[in-house]
Amino acid sequence: MVLPNEPEFQQAYKELINALEDSTLFTEEPKYKKVIPVVSIPERIIQFRVAWENDKGEIEVNNGFRVQFNSALGPYKGGLRFHPSVNLSILKFLGFEQIFKNALTGLSMGGGKGGCDFNPKGRSDAEIRRFCVAFMRQLARYIGQDTDVPAGDIGVGGREIGFLFGAYKQMQNNWSGVLTGKGLNWGGSLIRPEATGYGVVYYVEKMIEKATGGKESFKGKKVAISGSGNVAQYAALKVIELGGTVVSLSDSKGSIISTEGITAEQVYEIADAKIKFKSLEEIVGNTASAAFTKNKVEYKAGARPWTLVEQIDIALPSATQNEVSGEEAKALVKAGCKFIAEGSNMGSTAEAIDVFEENRANQVWYAPGKAANCGGVAVSGLEMAQNSQRVSWTAEEVDNKLKNIMYTCFENCYETAQKYSKEKSDLPSLLKGANIAGFIKVADAMFDQGDVF
Ligand code: GLU
Repeated sequence: MVLPNEPEFQQAYKELINALEDSTLFTEEPKYKKVIPVVSIPERIIQFRVAWENDKGEIEVNNGFRVQFNSALGPYKGGLRFHPSVNLSILKFLGFEQIFKNALTGLSMGGGKGGCDFNPKGRSDAEIRRFCVAFMRQLARYIGQDTDVPAGDIGVGGREIGFLFGAYKQMQNNWSGVLTGKGLNWGGSLIRPEATGYGVVYYVEKMIEKATGGKESFKGKKVAISGSGNVAQYAALKVIELGGTVVSLSDSKGSIISTEGITAEQVYEIADAKIKFKSLEEIVGNTASAAFTKNKVEYKAGARPWTLVEQIDIALPSATQNEVSGEEAKALVKAGCKFIAEGSNMGSTAEAIDVFEENRANQVWYAPGKAANCGGVAVSGLEMAQNSQRVSWTAEEVDNKLKNIMYTCFENCYETAQKYSKEKSDLPSLLKGANIAGFIKVADAMFDQGDVF
């Protein structure tokens, strides 16, 4: 199949195809081959102009998109990303990943993704509000609680979802669960903010348990985390709660390192400052901060964490796509890293994945984002269920459901990998397991619905 010249989308496509082809799936059930050319083209792409007024009263214009990739399993579902790098290649890769990720949650959600090349950094609240209203003015007619339910992603958090929801409600005269990640006092689900980060850690709990026959856990493990946004923050807090040591966090400008362990207090401070677009360098350099004067962390400009720490047991890339290179993967393996699970989407380059997969024989175990980070969208699915029933579940209820979803997702990836791998191993490829399990679920629905025959 000839794909358009979209590098990120091609990378995500190849990851899936390689996983499927390097298994026994197509020899056992050749009909699945027919699904590939159909599933790899979005059902619909909406592209629109977003013209909005900045604080100086000037007009600014951005490119808005929504990729409605696949609706076999439910309404299109996936986040909105506001970042200057956003383009169709990135949104198609994210939408494509989302189809199979959502399938792995076991809930009824199709796959989609959207966003804009708008840079929220340094914008005032009023600018962000005006931008969100202008964005929704274009998007509102294409979404709906049974059609397409966007949520957050990089650059889109609770504040943006609030503004987008308010705009939708006014334009459509309709209060419905059309977005997830809503405020907790007006339709949001408890644990949604925590879900992606917590979910990654729950998934890794099972990896450790399986690999060590239940002998080990997060306790005493050194965990390198990249990123310092929503996913990284809650992954760090859960690791700390489970007795692990968080040795790093990062942002686009540099990393903070602490071999003693970044504290929960420090994570809370980072979370507060990040909403105001402060960089890690500014946060840790703030001499008035009790958290950072009591426990010192080291700031390293211009570097990702992977090569900066001598001993690492677990790596959780939780910043953005392609944030682990082949060389960095080698450094992680050298540092003793045994578990890698992506909080970000496509966090590892193809070269990095090769390094991890080649080292499976040395007990290095890699989990791709579409499995490890499905907790976020899973709780979005639970938010949709609560909205439809007009009820709210307790934090404990949602957290237990999230745990169950992550544990089941792990088992599904593990068993599918055992079933379809050419080689037999106690540590089968979760890369293959995740891709094959997600793909089969979507493909079967497409056959049933006559999308493929
Ligand atoms: N953006 C998140 C993801 O990559 C969440 C999507 C959602 O909740 O719909 O899965």
